[in-house]
Amino acid sequence: MYFESYFAQFGKKPADYYHLIRLDPSYRVVFGENDLVDVPAQMEALRDLFDSVEPGSSKQLDAFLKQAAYKYQVGIQEFVYKPSRSVTEFIDPRLLISAIRMDVFQSFYTHVRRFFKHPKILQLMEFPVLFLGAVPQNTPALYSLMNYADISLGTWYPMGGMHKIVEGMTQFAEEKGVTFNYNCEVTGIDVIDRQARRIITNKGTFDAAVVVAGADYHHVESQLLEKGQQSYSEEYWNKRVLAPSSLIFYVGVNKRLQGLRHHNLFFDADFGLHAQEIYETPQWPTEPLFYVSAPSVTDPAVAPQGCENLFILIPVAPALADSEEVREKYYQVVMDRLEKLTGQSIREAVVYKRSYAHRDFVGDYHAFKGNAYGLANTLMQTAILKPSLKSRKVDNLFYTGQLTVPGPGVPPSLISGQVVAGEVVKEFG
Ligand SMILES: Cc1cc2nc3c(=O)[nH]c(=O)nc-3n(C[C@H](O)[C@H](O)[C@H](O)COP(=O)(O)OP(=O)(O)OC[C@H]3O[C@@H](n4cnc5c(N)ncnc54)[C@H](O)[C@@H]3O)c2cc1C
Repeated sequence: MYFESYFAQFGKKPADYYHLIRLDPSYRVVFGENDLVDVPAQMEALRDLFDSVEPGSSKQLDAFLKQAAYKYQVGIQEFVYKPSRSVTEFIDPRLLISAIRMDVFQSFYTHVRRFFKHPKILQLMEFPVLFLGAVPQNTPALYSLMNYADISLGTWYPMGGMHKIVEGMTQFAEEKGVTFNYNCEVTGIDVIDRQARRIITNKGTFDAAVVVAGADYHHVESQLLEKGQQSYSEEYWNKRVLAPSSLIFYVGVNKRLQGLRHHNLFFDADFGLHAQEIYETPQWPTEPLFYVSAPSVTDPAVAPQGCENLFILIPVAPALADSEEVREKYYQVVMDRLEKLTGQSIREAVVYKRSYAHRDFVGDYHAFKGNAYGLANTLMQTAILKPSLKSRKVDNLFYTGQLTVPGPGVPPSLISGQVVAGEVVKEFG
C-alpha cells in the first residue's frame, strides 16, 4: 500500500518497475522436531489452521483482524503522515478518541491474550513486534496493525530480490531528473549563521540550499556538525531506546535443501527468554530464535541452478561486543538446529559464508550502537517524542529515515521522506 501510494503520486505503479508475487504459504513456523505449521495465504485455510491449533479461535482471528484493519487504516491516515513538529498537530479530540480505539495506551501482550490462549498462536502473533524495540508487554497494542499487514494484505516478494525495489525507485527518480552520487561519503556540513551552506564529501564539495540528511541521525549530529549546531546532546542519545540489531549469515549452499519455505521462523526456543535478552537484560541470547530466508525456493535468479541462497538472521540487542568468535559460535548453533530440524546435512555443502553484525552496521552505515532498525517504537519515543525531522540549530537542515518520524522499517522510512519533502516545500517553496 505504501509503495503503491508512493508511485501513484506520480501516476505510476510498482509493476512499472518490479514484479511482485504473493507467497503461499506466507511463511513456515518451526516449533520443534516434526512440529511445524505453514501459514497459508488464503484466509479460509488460515482460519482452519487456527481452529486446528485452538478450537474456535478462527472467530477470534476475525475479530482481532477487524480491529487491526481499523488501526492500519486510521493509523496511517491520521498519525503516520504527521511531521510531529508540535504537540498542536495532535490537539484534536477526534485524534484522542482514535488513539484510544487504536490501543495506543494498551500493551500488545494483554491485547493478544484477550483473543487467543494457545502458546503457538500467541508466538505467531507476537513475533512481528519483537523487531519494534520492546517486549510485547511494553509495545502498544496499536501494532497489531502489523499482523493485519502480514496476514490480510499478504507476504509479497519482488522477483530478483529487495534490491529490485531500490533499482525501481532510483530509475524512477532519474526519470524525474534526480542525480545520484554513489560511493560519496559526507564528511562535514558547513554551517554559517544557522544555514547549511556546503556539503563536504570525499568526492568534493557541494553548495546547498536545503539539506535533508538521510543517514543515521546520531552520526549526522555528532560527526558532521560542530557541537553548537547539534540539536541533541550525547546524553540525550544515550537515553534513547534502540530497536534490535541483528547477527546475519549470508550462506550459499551447493545443493537444494529440503524442508524450507521462502520464509522460515525457527521458534523451537524460549520466545520470552530471547525477548528479555534483547530488551531487558541486553546480552547475546542463551538460545536464540532465528529466521531463515531462502529466496531461491521462489526465485531461480538468486542462486545458481541446483543451489540454495540462505539469509539467516538472529535478532540481538544493540551495542553488544561483537567478535568473530561470538559470530562463529552462533553459526554453529544455528547450523546444528537447522540440520536437525530439517533432517539433512547443510554445513558440508556451504560454498559461501559471510557474517554481518554490529561492527558492520557501524562501519558501513555509521549506525548508532550498531542498530539495525533505528529507534524502538515505544510510547515514549513516538511522534513529537522522537528526534525532530527539523534541526533546532540549523534552519535549512532536515532529517529523514528510521531515527525520526514516523519510525523504523522500510515503509515508515519511505513515508518519512514524503513527510519531510512536504515540510521543505512548505518552508522553501
Ligand atoms: C537485516 C535487516 C532486516 C530488515 N527487515 C525489515 C523488514 O522485513 N521490514 C521492514 O519494514 N524493515 C526492515 N528492516 C529495517 C529497514 O531496512 C530500515 O528501517 C530502513 O531501511 C531504514 O531506512 P533509512 O533510509 O532510514 O536508512 P538506510 O537505509 O540505512 O539509509 C541510510 C543511508 O545513509 C548512508 N550514509 C550513512 N552515513 C553517510 C555519510 N556520512 N555519507 C553518505 N552516506 C551516508 C548509508 O550508507 C545508507 O545507505 C530491516 C533492516 C535490517 C538491517
